[in-house]
Amino acid sequence: MTQLTNLLDKDPAQLVAYCAELGEKPFRAKQLLRWIHQFGASDFDAMTDLAKSLRDKLASRAFIAAPAVISDHTSSDGTRKWLLDVGHGDAVETVFIPEENRGTLCISTQAGCAVNCRFCSTGKQGFSRNLTVGEIIGQLWMAEFALRQAKGIEPGPKGERQITNVVMMGMGEPLLNFEPTVTALKLMLDDNAYGLSRRRVTLSTSGVVPMMDRLSQECAVALAVSVHASNDALRDSLVPLNKKYPLRELMAACRRYLEFAPRDFVTFEYCMLDGVNDSDQHARELIALVQDGEAPVPCKFNLIPFNPFPESGLKRSNNVRIKAFAKVLMDAGIVTTIRKTRGDDIDAACGQLAGEVQDRTRVQERMQKMAEYQQKYGRDFGRIVEISS
Ligand code: SF4
Repeated sequence: MTQLTNLLDKDPAQLVAYCAELGEKPFRAKQLLRWIHQFGASDFDAMTDLAKSLRDKLASRAFIAAPAVISDHTSSDGTRKWLLDVGHGDAVETVFIPEENRGTLCISTQAGCAVNCRFCSTGKQGFSRNLTVGEIIGQLWMAEFALRQAKGIEPGPKGERQITNVVMMGMGEPLLNFEPTVTALKLMLDDNAYGLSRRRVTLSTSGVVPMMDRLSQECAVALAVSVHASNDALRDSLVPLNKKYPLRELMAACRRYLEFAPRDFVTFEYCMLDGVNDSDQHARELIALVQDGEAPVPCKFNLIPFNPFPESGLKRSNNVRIKAFAKVLMDAGIVTTIRKTRGDDIDAACGQLAGEVQDRTRVQERMQKMAEYQQKYGRDFGRIVEISS
Protein backbone atom coordinates (compact mmCIF):
# COMPACT_ATOMS: atom_id res chain seq x y z
CA MET A 1 0.00 0.00 0.00
CA THR A 2 1.34 3.49 -0.89
CA GLN A 3 2.04 5.63 2.11
CA LEU A 4 0.09 8.87 2.01
CA THR A 5 2.11 12.11 1.94
CA ASN A 6 1.14 15.04 4.14
CA LEU A 7 1.51 18.06 1.86
CA LEU A 8 2.02 20.33 4.89
CA ASP A 9 5.47 18.74 5.11
CA LYS A 10 6.53 20.17 1.74
CA ASP A 11 8.22 23.50 1.13
CA PRO A 12 7.72 25.25 -2.26
CA ALA A 13 10.67 23.49 -3.94
CA GLN A 14 9.61 20.10 -2.59
CA LEU A 15 6.08 20.64 -3.88
CA VAL A 16 7.49 21.32 -7.36
CA ALA A 17 9.42 18.04 -7.14
CA TYR A 18 6.33 16.23 -5.87
CA CYS A 19 4.26 17.56 -8.79
CA ALA A 20 6.99 16.44 -11.20
CA GLU A 21 6.76 12.93 -9.73
CA LEU A 22 3.06 13.01 -10.57
CA GLY A 23 3.86 14.15 -14.12
CA GLU A 24 2.59 17.69 -13.43
CA LYS A 25 4.02 21.08 -14.39
CA PRO A 26 5.74 23.31 -11.77
CA PHE A 27 2.92 25.89 -11.75
CA ARG A 28 0.68 23.25 -10.17
CA ALA A 29 2.89 23.44 -7.08
CA LYS A 30 2.17 27.16 -6.76
CA GLN A 31 -1.54 26.51 -7.08
CA LEU A 32 -1.36 23.82 -4.43
CA LEU A 33 0.65 26.05 -2.12
CA ARG A 34 -2.01 28.76 -2.37
CA TRP A 35 -4.89 26.38 -1.80
CA ILE A 36 -3.23 24.92 1.25
CA HIS A 37 -1.70 27.93 2.96
CA GLN A 38 -3.84 30.84 1.74
CA PHE A 39 -7.24 29.15 1.62
CA GLY A 40 -6.68 26.57 4.36
CA ALA A 41 -7.99 23.84 2.06
CA SER A 42 -7.62 20.21 3.05
CA ASP A 43 -10.07 18.75 0.55
CA PHE A 44 -8.62 18.28 -2.93
CA ASP A 45 -12.10 18.47 -4.45
CA ALA A 46 -12.33 22.09 -3.31
CA MET A 47 -9.27 22.98 -5.44
CA THR A 48 -11.38 23.86 -8.42
CA ASP A 49 -8.66 25.14 -10.74
CA LEU A 50 -6.80 21.81 -10.61
CA ALA A 51 -7.75 19.27 -13.28
CA LYS A 52 -10.05 16.53 -12.02
CA SER A 53 -7.42 13.92 -12.92
CA LEU A 54 -4.85 15.66 -10.69
CA ARG A 55 -7.32 16.00 -7.83
CA ASP A 56 -8.03 12.27 -8.07
CA LYS A 57 -4.30 11.48 -8.10
CA LEU A 58 -3.74 13.64 -5.03
CA ALA A 59 -6.69 12.16 -3.17
CA SER A 60 -5.22 8.67 -3.56
CA ARG A 61 -1.65 9.61 -2.56
CA ALA A 62 -1.69 12.64 -0.31
CA PHE A 63 -3.51 14.40 2.49
CA ILE A 64 -3.35 17.76 4.29
CA ALA A 65 -3.63 17.66 8.07
CA ALA A 66 -2.28 19.51 11.10
CA PRO A 67 -1.92 17.70 14.45
CA ALA A 68 -5.31 16.95 16.04
CA VAL A 69 -6.60 19.45 18.58
CA ILE A 70 -6.94 17.95 22.06
CA SER A 71 -8.16 21.13 23.70
CA ASP A 72 -8.90 24.71 22.70
CA HIS A 73 -9.24 27.34 25.42
CA THR A 74 -9.74 31.08 25.24
CA SER A 75 -8.65 33.21 28.19
CA SER A 76 -10.65 36.14 29.53
CA ASP A 77 -8.02 38.45 27.93
CA GLY A 78 -8.57 36.87 24.49
CA THR A 79 -5.44 34.70 24.53
CA ARG A 80 -6.29 31.38 22.87
CA LYS A 81 -4.40 28.17 23.50
CA TRP A 82 -4.56 24.90 21.66
CA LEU A 83 -3.12 21.65 22.93
CA LEU A 84 -2.21 19.47 19.96
CA ASP A 85 -1.74 15.73 19.81
CA VAL A 86 1.53 14.83 18.05
CA GLY A 87 1.18 11.10 18.68
CA HIS A 88 2.62 8.54 21.10
CA GLY A 89 1.22 10.40 24.10
CA ASP A 90 3.04 13.63 23.24
CA ALA A 91 1.31 16.98 23.10
CA VAL A 92 2.52 20.46 22.17
CA GLU A 93 0.98 23.86 22.59
CA THR A 94 0.25 26.79 20.33
CA VAL A 95 -0.83 30.13 21.78
CA PHE A 96 -2.45 33.10 20.02
CA ILE A 97 -2.03 36.50 21.67
CA PRO A 98 -4.26 39.23 20.25
CA GLU A 99 -3.18 42.84 20.62
CA GLU A 100 -4.57 46.06 19.25
CA ASN A 101 -2.61 46.20 16.03
CA ARG A 102 -1.35 42.66 15.66
CA GLY A 103 -1.99 39.03 16.39
CA THR A 104 0.98 36.94 17.51
CA LEU A 105 1.15 33.17 17.37
CA CYS A 106 3.62 31.39 19.62
CA ILE A 107 4.49 28.00 18.19
CA SER A 108 6.37 24.91 19.36
CA THR A 109 9.16 23.13 17.51
CA GLN A 110 9.79 20.05 19.67
CA ALA A 111 7.75 17.79 21.95
CA GLY A 112 9.47 18.47 25.26
CA CYS A 113 12.96 19.97 25.35
CA ALA A 114 16.42 18.65 26.13
CA VAL A 115 17.92 21.98 27.27
CA ASN A 116 16.30 21.72 30.71
CA CYS A 117 16.37 25.34 31.82
CA ARG A 118 15.71 25.49 35.53
CA PHE A 119 12.79 27.92 35.34
CA CYS A 120 10.95 26.19 32.47
CA SER A 121 8.16 23.68 32.92
CA THR A 122 8.68 22.30 29.40
CA GLY A 123 12.29 21.51 30.25
CA LYS A 124 11.10 19.45 33.21
CA GLN A 125 9.20 17.12 30.86
CA GLY A 126 12.44 16.07 29.17
CA PHE A 127 12.82 15.66 25.42
CA SER A 128 10.47 13.45 23.45
CA ARG A 129 11.06 14.19 19.78
CA ASN A 130 11.51 16.78 17.06
CA LEU A 131 8.39 18.01 15.30
CA THR A 132 8.10 17.56 11.54
CA VAL A 133 7.68 20.48 9.12
CA GLY A 134 3.97 19.67 8.88
CA GLU A 135 3.60 19.68 12.66
CA ILE A 136 5.35 23.07 12.92
CA ILE A 137 3.70 24.89 10.00
CA GLY A 138 0.48 23.01 10.79
CA GLN A 139 0.18 25.09 13.97
CA LEU A 140 0.06 28.30 11.92
CA TRP A 141 -2.23 26.71 9.34
CA MET A 142 -4.65 25.42 11.96
CA ALA A 143 -4.65 28.62 14.03
CA GLU A 144 -5.03 31.12 11.17
CA PHE A 145 -8.07 29.38 9.72
CA ALA A 146 -9.64 28.57 13.09
CA LEU A 147 -9.35 32.25 14.05
CA ARG A 148 -10.85 33.36 10.75
CA GLN A 149 -13.69 30.89 11.05
CA ALA A 150 -14.49 32.13 14.56
CA LYS A 151 -14.83 35.68 13.20
CA GLY A 152 -16.58 34.70 9.98
CA ILE A 153 -13.64 35.94 7.86
CA GLU A 154 -13.32 34.23 4.50
CA PRO A 155 -10.18 32.22 3.76
CA GLY A 156 -7.95 33.39 0.92
CA PRO A 157 -5.63 36.35 0.41
CA LYS A 158 -8.51 38.87 0.47
CA GLY A 159 -9.68 37.90 3.96
CA GLU A 160 -8.18 39.84 6.87
CA ARG A 161 -5.13 38.01 8.16
CA GLN A 162 -5.46 37.12 11.84
CA ILE A 163 -1.86 36.16 12.55
CA THR A 164 0.50 39.00 11.69
CA ASN A 165 3.49 37.85 13.76
CA VAL A 166 4.96 34.49 14.66
CA VAL A 167 7.31 33.76 17.53
CA MET A 168 9.05 30.43 17.92
CA MET A 169 8.98 30.54 21.69
CA GLY A 170 6.74 27.61 22.56
CA MET A 171 7.95 24.16 23.52
CA GLY A 172 11.43 23.19 22.42
CA GLU A 173 14.71 24.70 21.27
CA PRO A 174 14.11 25.47 17.56
CA LEU A 175 17.79 25.42 16.64
CA LEU A 176 18.09 21.82 17.87
CA ASN A 177 15.45 20.89 15.26
CA PHE A 178 17.12 22.94 12.57
CA GLU A 179 16.03 21.67 9.12
CA PRO A 180 12.28 21.32 9.82
CA THR A 181 12.32 24.69 11.61
CA VAL A 182 13.99 26.46 8.68
CA THR A 183 11.67 24.82 6.15
CA ALA A 184 8.67 25.97 8.20
CA LEU A 185 10.17 29.47 8.41
CA LYS A 186 10.56 29.58 4.63
CA LEU A 187 6.89 28.67 4.22
CA MET A 188 5.92 31.46 6.61
CA LEU A 189 7.84 33.97 4.47
CA ASP A 190 6.75 32.67 1.04
CA ASP A 191 4.41 35.01 -0.85
CA ASN A 192 2.32 32.09 -2.08
CA ALA A 193 1.86 30.88 1.48
CA TYR A 194 1.72 33.31 4.46
CA GLY A 195 3.89 36.12 3.10
CA LEU A 196 5.08 37.29 6.52
CA SER A 197 8.04 39.69 6.57
CA ARG A 198 11.26 38.51 8.22
CA ARG A 199 10.86 41.24 10.81
CA ARG A 200 7.57 39.75 11.94
CA VAL A 201 8.91 36.27 12.49
CA THR A 202 11.07 35.81 15.58
CA LEU A 203 13.05 32.75 16.51
CA SER A 204 13.97 32.42 20.17
CA THR A 205 17.01 30.38 21.14
CA SER A 206 18.72 29.48 24.38
CA GLY A 207 22.00 30.07 22.53
CA VAL A 208 23.01 27.20 20.22
CA VAL A 209 25.91 29.21 18.79
CA PRO A 210 26.85 27.22 15.64
CA MET A 211 23.21 27.01 14.59
CA MET A 212 22.74 30.76 15.07
CA ASP A 213 25.45 31.22 12.44
CA ARG A 214 23.73 28.74 10.14
CA LEU A 215 20.37 30.42 10.59
CA SER A 216 21.89 33.79 9.65
CA GLN A 217 22.91 32.25 6.30
CA GLU A 218 19.84 30.13 5.57
CA CYS A 219 16.89 32.15 6.83
CA ALA A 220 17.72 35.21 8.91
CA VAL A 221 14.58 36.17 10.80
CA ALA A 222 14.38 38.38 13.90
CA LEU A 223 16.30 36.86 16.80
CA ALA A 224 15.51 36.59 20.49
CA VAL A 225 17.99 35.04 22.90
CA SER A 226 17.03 33.62 26.29
CA VAL A 227 19.85 35.07 28.35
CA HIS A 228 18.38 35.00 31.89
CA ALA A 229 21.70 35.56 33.68
CA SER A 230 24.43 38.16 33.81
CA ASN A 231 27.47 35.93 34.37
CA ASP A 232 28.55 32.43 33.41
CA ALA A 233 28.36 30.88 36.88
CA LEU A 234 24.73 31.93 37.25
CA ARG A 235 23.79 31.07 33.67
CA ASP A 236 25.41 27.63 33.99
CA SER A 237 22.94 26.93 36.79
CA LEU A 238 19.86 28.31 34.97
CA VAL A 239 20.51 27.40 31.32
CA PRO A 240 22.77 24.30 31.24
CA LEU A 241 23.62 24.92 27.56
CA ASN A 242 25.75 27.81 28.80
CA LYS A 243 28.47 25.35 29.80
CA LYS A 244 28.90 24.55 26.12
CA TYR A 245 28.40 28.07 24.72
CA PRO A 246 29.27 30.61 27.44
CA LEU A 247 28.15 34.22 27.43
CA ARG A 248 31.16 35.68 25.60
CA GLU A 249 30.72 33.25 22.71
CA LEU A 250 26.99 33.89 22.74
CA MET A 251 27.46 37.67 22.53
CA ALA A 252 29.92 37.24 19.66
CA ALA A 253 27.37 35.04 17.85
CA CYS A 254 24.70 37.73 18.36
CA ARG A 255 26.98 40.33 16.81
CA ARG A 256 27.67 38.07 13.82
CA TYR A 257 23.94 37.36 13.43
CA LEU A 258 23.10 41.05 13.33
CA GLU A 259 25.13 41.47 10.15
CA PHE A 260 22.41 39.48 8.36
CA ALA A 261 19.32 40.04 10.53
CA PRO A 262 16.20 41.92 9.40
CA ARG A 263 16.27 43.97 12.61
CA ASP A 264 19.25 45.88 13.92
CA PHE A 265 19.02 44.54 17.45
CA VAL A 266 18.71 41.25 19.31
CA THR A 267 15.98 40.87 21.93
CA PHE A 268 17.35 39.43 25.14
CA GLU A 269 14.77 37.63 27.23
CA TYR A 270 15.32 37.69 30.93
CA CYS A 271 13.12 35.73 33.32
CA MET A 272 12.88 37.58 36.64
CA LEU A 273 13.59 35.18 39.51
CA ASP A 274 13.28 36.41 43.05
CA GLY A 275 16.66 36.58 44.82
CA VAL A 276 18.39 34.68 42.01
CA ASN A 277 19.10 37.04 39.08
CA ASP A 278 17.17 40.21 39.90
CA SER A 279 19.51 42.53 41.87
CA ASP A 280 20.82 45.90 40.67
CA GLN A 281 24.27 44.29 40.56
CA HIS A 282 22.97 41.69 38.07
CA ALA A 283 21.56 44.53 35.95
CA ARG A 284 24.93 46.31 36.01
CA GLU A 285 26.70 43.08 34.96
CA LEU A 286 24.29 42.79 32.04
CA ILE A 287 25.06 46.33 30.95
CA ALA A 288 28.79 45.56 31.01
CA LEU A 289 28.15 42.38 29.02
CA VAL A 290 26.23 44.03 26.18
CA GLN A 291 27.97 47.40 26.17
CA ASP A 292 31.47 45.95 26.07
CA GLY A 293 33.43 48.98 24.72
CA GLU A 294 35.21 47.07 21.94
CA ALA A 295 32.26 45.03 20.83
CA PRO A 296 28.81 46.13 22.00
CA VAL A 297 25.70 44.13 21.09
CA PRO A 298 22.80 46.32 19.90
CA CYS A 299 19.91 44.93 21.90
CA LYS A 300 16.75 45.43 23.84
CA PHE A 301 15.71 43.59 26.97
CA ASN A 302 12.39 41.92 27.59
CA LEU A 303 11.94 41.20 31.30
CA ILE A 304 9.60 38.27 31.88
CA PRO A 305 7.87 37.89 35.25
CA PHE A 306 8.45 34.22 36.13
CA ASN A 307 5.39 31.98 36.23
CA PRO A 308 5.91 29.59 39.13
CA PHE A 309 5.16 25.93 38.55
CA PRO A 310 5.24 23.01 40.95
CA GLU A 311 8.70 21.77 41.94
CA SER A 312 10.62 24.65 40.36
CA GLY A 313 11.63 25.93 43.79
CA LEU A 314 11.73 29.42 42.28
CA LYS A 315 9.66 32.51 42.88
CA ARG A 316 8.69 35.48 40.76
CA SER A 317 10.45 38.77 41.52
CA ASN A 318 8.02 41.30 42.89
CA ASN A 319 6.83 44.14 40.66
CA VAL A 320 8.82 46.82 42.52
CA ARG A 321 12.05 44.84 41.99
CA ILE A 322 11.26 44.21 38.32
CA LYS A 323 10.69 47.93 37.73
CA ALA A 324 13.87 48.86 39.63
CA PHE A 325 15.85 46.35 37.55
CA ALA A 326 14.37 47.78 34.35
CA LYS A 327 15.31 51.30 35.47
CA VAL A 328 18.99 50.38 35.88
CA LEU A 329 19.01 49.04 32.30
CA MET A 330 17.09 51.99 30.91
CA ASP A 331 19.33 54.52 32.68
CA ALA A 332 22.19 52.93 30.73
CA GLY A 333 20.30 53.64 27.48
CA ILE A 334 19.02 50.11 26.88
CA VAL A 335 15.43 49.80 25.63
CA THR A 336 13.69 47.59 28.18
CA THR A 337 10.16 46.22 28.28
CA ILE A 338 8.40 44.22 30.94
CA ARG A 339 6.28 41.47 29.46
CA LYS A 340 2.64 41.57 30.37
CA THR A 341 1.48 38.21 31.65
CA ARG A 342 -1.24 36.95 29.31
CA GLY A 343 -3.53 33.99 29.52
CA ASP A 344 -2.78 33.17 33.17
CA ASP A 345 -6.19 31.60 33.59
CA ILE A 346 -5.50 29.03 30.85
CA ASP A 347 -1.85 28.28 31.68
CA ALA A 348 -0.70 29.97 28.50
CA ALA A 349 1.78 32.36 30.06
CA CYS A 350 5.45 31.98 29.19
CA GLY A 351 7.19 28.99 30.73
CA GLN A 352 3.86 27.35 31.51
CA LEU A 353 3.56 25.36 28.36
CA ALA A 354 2.99 22.11 30.17
CA GLY A 355 -0.68 22.45 29.58
CA GLU A 356 -4.03 21.40 30.70
CA VAL A 357 -5.84 18.71 28.79
CA GLN A 358 -9.51 19.36 28.44
CA ASP A 359 -12.14 18.44 25.90
CA ARG A 360 -15.65 19.06 27.05
CA THR A 361 -17.22 16.88 24.39
CA ARG A 362 -15.21 13.70 24.91
CA VAL A 363 -14.89 13.14 28.59
CA GLN A 364 -13.71 9.53 28.39
CA GLU A 365 -10.99 10.37 25.95
CA ARG A 366 -9.98 13.38 27.99
CA MET A 367 -9.68 11.34 31.16
CA GLN A 368 -7.60 8.75 29.37
CA LYS A 369 -5.32 11.37 27.87
CA MET A 370 -4.92 13.08 31.21
CA ALA A 371 -3.96 9.77 32.86
CA GLU A 372 -1.38 9.14 30.11
CA TYR A 373 0.15 12.57 30.45
CA GLN A 374 0.22 12.41 34.22
CA GLN A 375 1.96 9.07 34.07
CA LYS A 376 4.48 10.56 31.69
CA TYR A 377 4.96 14.04 33.13
CA GLY A 378 4.03 13.57 36.78
CA ARG A 379 0.87 14.05 38.74
CA ASP A 380 1.05 17.86 38.57
CA PHE A 381 0.64 17.85 34.81
CA GLY A 382 -2.45 19.86 33.89
CA ARG A 383 -2.75 21.79 37.14
CA ILE A 384 -3.63 25.42 36.78
CA VAL A 385 -0.73 27.39 38.21
CA GLU A 386 -1.67 30.12 40.62
CA ILE A 387 0.14 33.37 40.08
CA SER A 388 0.62 35.73 42.98
CA SER A 389 0.33 39.39 42.06
S1 SF4 B 1 13.29 27.72 28.14
FE1 SF4 B 1 13.24 26.96 26.01
S2 SF4 B 1 15.27 25.99 25.76
FE2 SF4 B 1 14.96 26.19 27.99
S3 SF4 B 1 14.02 24.21 28.60
FE3 SF4 B 1 12.34 25.66 28.16
S4 SF4 B 1 11.77 25.25 26.04
FE4 SF4 B 1 13.83 24.38 26.37
